[in-house]
Amino acid sequence: MDQRTCIQEPVISMLVGFSTSTAHVTKIFNINDIRAGDRNLNLKAIIVGGGVGGLTAAICLRLTGWDVHVYEKATKISETGAGIQISPNGIKILDEIGVLPLLEETLFEPDAIEIRNGLSGRQLINLPMGGYAQARWNARYVQIHRADLVNGLRSRLMHLAPSSITTNAEVISVMHSPLGGVVTFTSHPEQQANLVIGADGIRSVVRQKILGQDRPQFTGNMAWRTTIDIDKLGDLVPPPTGCIWTGKKKHAVTTRIRAGQMVNFVGIVEQPTWQEEGWLIKGCKEDALLDFKGWDPRITNLIENAVELNRWGLFERNPLAKWHVGHIALLGDAAHAMLPSMAQGAVQSIEDACVLASVLKSCPKNKISDQLGKYFRKRIARTSKVQRISKRNLRLFHKATALSQLTWYGPIWIAGKTIPTIVQGRLDWLYDAEFPLL
Ligand SMILES: Cc1cc2nc3c(=O)[nH]c(=O)nc-3n(C[C@H](O)[C@H](O)[C@H](O)COP(=O)(O)OP(=O)(O)OC[C@H]3O[C@@H](n4cnc5c(N)ncnc54)[C@H](O)[C@@H]3O)c2cc1C
Repeated sequence: MDQRTCIQEPVISMLVGFSTSTAHVTKIFNINDIRAGDRNLNLKAIIVGGGVGGLTAAICLRLTGWDVHVYEKATKISETGAGIQISPNGIKILDEIGVLPLLEETLFEPDAIEIRNGLSGRQLINLPMGGYAQARWNARYVQIHRADLVNGLRSRLMHLAPSSITTNAEVISVMHSPLGGVVTFTSHPEQQANLVIGADGIRSVVRQKILGQDRPQFTGNMAWRTTIDIDKLGDLVPPPTGCIWTGKKKHAVTTRIRAGQMVNFVGIVEQPTWQEEGWLIKGCKEDALLDFKGWDPRITNLIENAVELNRWGLFERNPLAKWHVGHIALLGDAAHAMLPSMAQGAVQSIEDACVLASVLKSCPKNKISDQLGKYFRKRIARTSKVQRISKRNLRLFHKATALSQLTWYGPIWIAGKTIPTIVQGRLDWLYDAEFPLL
């Protein structure tokens, strides 16, 4: 822990940590580099899963000259209605790989990250972001609809490698082959490649096949999720920030998406078990209103006006001892699923993709496995730290008494008012990370 302050590590919500590195992210990809990397085109990578991690990995590998193919089990590449926050460390990579310009029209840049008391609405912490993030971390902090992010990634990949996505292709098994991997599907002929990446999410089939059966653990929390047009909310609109509303054994997060025209709501509530079959089910508005009874009217009004509310069970996995066997490796939630209380799951999958491509650039066939070990060693400490802090943040957000709030947020509030850079500096390790040159 940084000895210069008495701020508890997990306190600054989405973000905090203790390294004070201010290194800047180096240029990762020149978009024209693809020609330089074409020498690798005889190497083929199969990516299982067309979510944020899988699509970013395909783009990064393609930019370094790999022949890539993404297999996605859904009938089309899309995302359920929900918002996502992307911090500067993710934005810098999206910019470097040519995706950011495709997202511009739909982005929203919040004024600040705030913590408020969920019942009274009283502000406890305010960390300026709009304009500030660019100046300190060299990139914006943004909020976006997940569908818009996935569409941008898909368009970029289609531009670089026009027929590189197959949907309706559920992978059921993956096996090792000499210097490669073989993937089998429910309804497609098997495919082989020099490299197989399991970017197939928290319930990864690839992970299970290479590392054995282990079930994700229910964290004792479920999430309500909805998005709503801002003009349906009347005067009771949540602030134009990333706002964490804290409460006893629950918290909510409101953000803006679709260029500020929609509000995204996540309400996380402790519950001892998750018995439903799936982890995403339709929820009942009355239950959500009960969970947030007596809360700030900007929250209850939002729930009352929601057209549809989904319920998610929140699961996680412990850090792994390795992310690859032979030429088959994991990425994103398949490798390190985490709680959303640092808003980093997707961002970390973007970082994974960048580091993976950098270690595999110009890699001879017989060195792929060694390089996958290097990828793991470059990533494991950082992703494990984010997992750890996400878990502690969640416990912190669920502290509700005046005394506990004063104990936790008081020192930060004072530091933020007197020397704001102390608070912001504690995010440098995350937002100002340095990535390897390709
Ligand atoms: C409430 C909530 C809020 C969040 N907010 C944020 C945030 O603000 N910022 C952030 O960075 N992160 C956030 N996250 C985390 C983020 O959503 C995940 O970490 C991220 O989506 C992981 O991306 P992924 O590509 O690894 O996996 P996924 O998004 O799960 O994608 C996996 C893909 O693989 C496909 N697939 C699965 N199995 C197979 C198979 N057998 N064959 C073929 N395809 C398959 C799936 O259909 C899916 O398309 C949040 C999470 C939750 C629950």
